Amino acid sequence: MTMTDHAWPPETTGELPELPEAVAIGMITEADLVLITGDQVHFTKTCHFCHQPSHVTAPLDGVRKWITGALIQTAMPGLPVGDREILVSGSHPACFDAAFLTG
Ligand SMILES: [Zn+2]
Repeated sequence: MTMTDHAWPPETTGELPELPEAVAIGMITEADLVLITGDQVHFTKTCHFCHQPSHVTAPLDGVRKWITGALIQTAMPGLPVGDREILVSGSHPACFDAAFLTG
């Protein structure tokens, strides 16, 4: 068996039974690519503004807490703020700011 570094997409090896519920309430859209490998969740979201993909890797237990109702900063305190913004808003923080800071 050959191990390939940084293969994308990685093979899904884990499960997140709460995921359909999160999609149903719109926290995660069906357009988002969500892959689970071990105890990590790899999200690929497309920015609403620049239409470029963003990759965020988050811990599985934190994602589970977040999509079942915890605040994202409580569920995933170790995740960089920019990554949390991408998960919550679906956009790059800089693109979001550029769209709403006019003049
Ligand atoms: Zn963007």
